[in-house]
Amino acid sequence: MRDEDVRSSCWAALEVLTAQFGEDIPYKDGLDRGFNYRGRRVPFLNYQKGIYRAAAQRGPAALSILTSHKSPYDDKVTPDGLVYAYRDGSLDHPDNRALRAAYELQVPIFYFLGTRAWRYQCFHPCFVVADDPAARAVVVSFGKLVGPIDEREPVLLEDPIERRYVVRRVRARMHQARFRGVVLPAYRDRCAVCRLKEVRLLDAAHIVGDLEDRGEAVVENGLSLCSIHHRAFDQHLVGVSPDYKIRVSARLLEDDDGPMLELLKGFHGQSIQLPARTRWRPDRERLAERFERFLAGA
Ligand SMILES: [Zn+2]
Repeated sequence: MRDEDVRSSCWAALEVLTAQFGEDIPYKDGLDRGFNYRGRRVPFLNYQKGIYRAAAQRGPAALSILTSHKSPYDDKVTPDGLVYAYRDGSLDHPDNRALRAAYELQVPIFYFLGTRAWRYQCFHPCFVVADDPAARAVVVSFGKLVGPIDEREPVLLEDPIERRYVVRRVRARMHQARFRGVVLPAYRDRCAVCRLKEVRLLDAAHIVGDLEDRGEAVVENGLSLCSIHHRAFDQHLVGVSPDYKIRVSARLLEDDDGPMLELLKGFHGQSIQLPARTRWRPDRERLAERFERFLAGA
């Protein structure tokens, strides 16, 4: 009834996809392959309906739920978890029954967050921890995997303090995933400094930090940077001036040890790669604020 074997086959296949693509998994030539369960190909999700129970399942509870990249999610994450609405129509609609059965049976489900068109980040394990038919919504919380690496079991967190801690962390991950989903495409999936085009090595860097005023996760407060340039930017070893020029700190410029350093220094004085659309460009005021700190630290 709990479909533990279907759920564990699904998880194993998702781990393979994550190893291949990173956390931001494409639908096309990725998730659309589905997973193998007893010789059958089973889809991971239903991107049109959101709530999904696989035909291969014997039990009644949903396998996965999804939020499309166009839907807001942020105001729906409460300290206890994500508020997820029933689908329209009757409470007895098969999708609503599948969602509510996930609550009754307390089975682990997969949550797919759309990060941009045709890309999803998967959160697992999730549990439906409350069901409110009057409000036509459930609350989805995040559990954890325990046990040895090859036999990890999804468990619900019983301790409310630990549960709230995990919800906070997952919320930050969701936030970063969506931010990355707007910033990277604006830069055509390239590092703004070195133009590296390998999404698994790219981050969305905040110009003004997300805990500060004007630190919102919006495209004009972001830069698409590879891991090295992101770290260097955060450490004030590389700065970007309000006129989009790359500056390398004097400390690095004076050093002359090794080819990697040349790679960092070589961009000094060049312009960053800008997004094609003007409104996606980094905000000059935010850059100025950040550049002052670079100059102070450099
Ligand atoms: Zn780079």
